[in-house]
Amino acid sequence: MKAEILCVGTELLLGDIVNTNAVFLSRELAKLGIDVYHQSVVGDNSERLKSCLAHAMEQSDLIITTGGLGPTYDDITKETVAELFGLPMELNETSLQEIKSFFARIDRPMTDNNKKQAVMPKGAIVLQNKNGTAPGLIVEENGKAVVLLPGPPREMKPMFLEGVLPYLRRDAQTTLVSHNIHIFGLGESQVESMLRDRMEQLKNPTIAPYAKDGEMLLRITASAEDASHADAMIRPLLSEVSDLLGDAVYGVDSGSLQNAVVQALSENHKKLASAESCTGGLISKRITEIPGASQVFDCGICCYSNEIKRRVVGVSEDTLARYGAVSRQTAAELAAGARRLSHADIGISTTGIAGPDGGTKDKPVGLVYVGVDSDWHREVLELRLSRGYPDERELIRWLASSHALFLALQTIRRLQR
Ligand code: ATP
Repeated sequence: MKAEILCVGTELLLGDIVNTNAVFLSRELAKLGIDVYHQSVVGDNSERLKSCLAHAMEQSDLIITTGGLGPTYDDITKETVAELFGLPMELNETSLQEIKSFFARIDRPMTDNNKKQAVMPKGAIVLQNKNGTAPGLIVEENGKAVVLLPGPPREMKPMFLEGVLPYLRRDAQTTLVSHNIHIFGLGESQVESMLRDRMEQLKNPTIAPYAKDGEMLLRITASAEDASHADAMIRPLLSEVSDLLGDAVYGVDSGSLQNAVVQALSENHKKLASAESCTGGLISKRITEIPGASQVFDCGICCYSNEIKRRVVGVSEDTLARYGAVSRQTAAELAAGARRLSHADIGISTTGIAGPDGGTKDKPVGLVYVGVDSDWHREVLELRLSRGYPDERELIRWLASSHALFLALQTIRRLQR
């Protein structure tokens, strides 16, 4: 099946909002094994929308639109689809009742233009909107389907998952299951060269590599008559690939690096604290994004100045004077200081030169020291994170925080050996 995503909204064309709906839908369709051949964006203009839809109908079997379903005059997606297919618009009583009860629930008056949202092309399948007022709909025409979803992601996502997924799965003969292997510290080309032959041989399951922000993800996908058979086909390959990549694998289906760290801390009943210089709180931010972080994260100190490194975290004056703030010794004392201050089990630290200015021959931009301190393991890594790009401050800071999180994870794992 060929699918296409068409997002409607002038704000998208103006660059006022980022098209996260297309990202979400593409990912979900990929999980179902449906090939997305095109993504496009069109403004709130009936003629242009009609021409995009007509073109999409020629080249795709499934078209999913988002946006333009609301009550205002510029919300025209439904009307345009009805016009294109020559379908009359009619009031859907069930939708009208749902919209009325939505307004009753939020205790707001319902204006007349909201009724417009219950007017649908005749014969459309209506998708209930539990998080807003605009219902979605599915219009089927000549064996093809157009799915119309609202623009706001908090309405669109649950509607897709609860209404559209079951619709798309209804005729499926097979089920697709994927598992993700998360890798840190190995480049895309390294991973590919280790696995290329295997990847080429495999037809079902398959392995697909994705690289992002210094990390790699290998998605192993199998197709079978049901989920448990697909899962059974994937398991041996998961073990084979994990064994081959060794310590670089930080988790299977574990989500982000910070998620893996929080999970490992919590499974091992350990607490973490950080003292960050060049990453300026990024480690704290990433860890505290994870629900439940309060159980395992004691404190994050952003110690940018030497004065705070010394006075608050306890780096010795002698260390700062002899080796400088960006040094192996300072990183070690920062990690130990974070642990001492908080009574956490593990302290981690970063200190380095994120650039673009401030680098020297001895200490160039991208030089970062990442430290860990615990009763059972102490280590400082010297990293060269510059890739030679003109402005890589954010990249260097991100990579430094990832290395620190990975080092924390490896330190926890030492407990299990
Ligand atoms: P509403 O009832 O809110 O008018 P709608 O279905 O008509 O819903 P739009 O008016 O097109 O949707 O968009 C409403 C809001 O939803 C936008 O202002 C934007 O914040 C968000 N939105 C719309 N399309 C997208 C998209 N493709 N990606 C991310 N957010 C989007």
